[in-house]
Amino acid sequence: MTRIFSGIKPTGHLTLGNYLGALRQWVEVDQHRAEALFCVVDLHALTVEHDPARVRRLSRQAATLMLAAGLDPERCAVFVQSHVDEHARLSYLLECVATDGEMRRMIQYKEKSVRERERGGSVRLSLLTYPVLMAADILAHGADEVPVGEDQTQHVELTRDLAVRFNQRYGHTFVVPRATPPKTAARVMDLQDPSSKMGKSHESAAGIVYLLDEPDVVRKKVLRAVTDGGREVVYDREGKPGVSNLLEILAACEGCRPEELSGGFDSYGELKKAVAEAVVELLRPVRERHRELCAEPGRVDAVLRAGAAKARGTARPTVDAAYRAMGLMPAG
Ligand code: ATP
Ligand code: MG
Repeated sequence: MTRIFSGIKPTGHLTLGNYLGALRQWVEVDQHRAEALFCVVDLHALTVEHDPARVRRLSRQAATLMLAAGLDPERCAVFVQSHVDEHARLSYLLECVATDGEMRRMIQYKEKSVRERERGGSVRLSLLTYPVLMAADILAHGADEVPVGEDQTQHVELTRDLAVRFNQRYGHTFVVPRATPPKTAARVMDLQDPSSKMGKSHESAAGIVYLLDEPDVVRKKVLRAVTDGGREVVYDREGKPGVSNLLEILAACEGCRPEELSGGFDSYGELKKAVAEAVVELLRPVRERHRELCAEPGRVDAVLRAGAAKARGTARPTVDAAYRAMGLMPAG
C-alpha cells in the first residue's frame, strides 16, 4: 500500500496557504487512499528565534486544527515529531551523507537566513541542516509520496537525492519518495504582497488569512487585498499576480480551475466579495470543530499518544537498518 508522510511546523498560526496547499488534500484525498502519517514537526520550529512556551502552545493548536480539518485518527497517524526519536536519530546519519554545498543551495535557507539577520539575530546551524531533518522525517517512514505545497518541492528533491545516494553507498535501505503538490492553490500568495508566499511565520498579519480568524477579520483582509493595474478580472499570474492569487483561492474553494473563473466578474470589488464569502464558508466548519476539540484536550492527547506509538512502529525498523548499513555496531 502507498505510504504518505507530511507535516506542519508550529512556527505560527496555521494559514489558508497551509490549508489549501497541504492540509485539505491530506483530509480529502490522502488519508482515504494510503497509509498516511501526519506530523506536527516541532523540532523544525527550533531552527529560528523561538519562545518555548509559544512553540508548545502552537504545537497543540496545530494538532487540534489538523483534527478539526478532518484528519481521522482511525485512518491515519497524527503525531508530534519530537515524540518519535527516530526522526532525530536518522537525521544525524543523513548529515553524514549530505554535503554543506547542497544545504547552502536551498532557497528557503537563503530566504530565512536573510530574514533572521534582518531581525538582528544570528543564523542557527539547524536552519542550514533543517532539510536533512525533513529528509529523515520522510525516509524514516518509508513514504512513497509527500503531499506538500510548491515551496517544499526543492526539499523533497534533496530527500530523493539523499535516499538514492545512501542506497548506492550502503545498500538498499530507503524508499525514494516523490512530492505530490495539489493541482490548485499549491502556492497561495500573501494578500498584501502577491510576490511572496503566504507564510505563517511572517511578521505582518495583514496579508495572511489564519484558519482561526473571525469571519469579519477574513472579510476585511480579503477586501483589502492588493490588486493590480487595470480593471479586468483575468487569470494572468505574471501580469496580474494579485487578481490571479484571488482567482486561485476562489477556484480552490469552489473545486474548479482559476481559468474557468477568469472573465466572470465585472470588477475587482465583486471578485473580492466572492472570495471573502467563499473563504469564510470554507473555514467555518474547521473553526467550529476546533472550538469543540479545545473543550476536550484529553482527546487530542490520546490521539497524539496513539499516533506516536504507530509512527515509532513504522520508523524503527528502517532507522535501525540504516544504522547497521552505515557500519554502526549493534548494542549487545
Ligand atoms: P513558515 O513560514 O514557518 O515556513 P509555512 O506557512 O510555510 O510556515 P510550513 O509548516 O513550512 O508552513 O509548511 C506546511 C505545509 O504547508 C507545507 O506542505 C507547505 O508546502 C504548505 N504551505 C505553506 N505555505 C503555503 C502557501 N502559501 N501555499 C501553499 N502551500 C503552502
Ligand atoms: Mg514554510
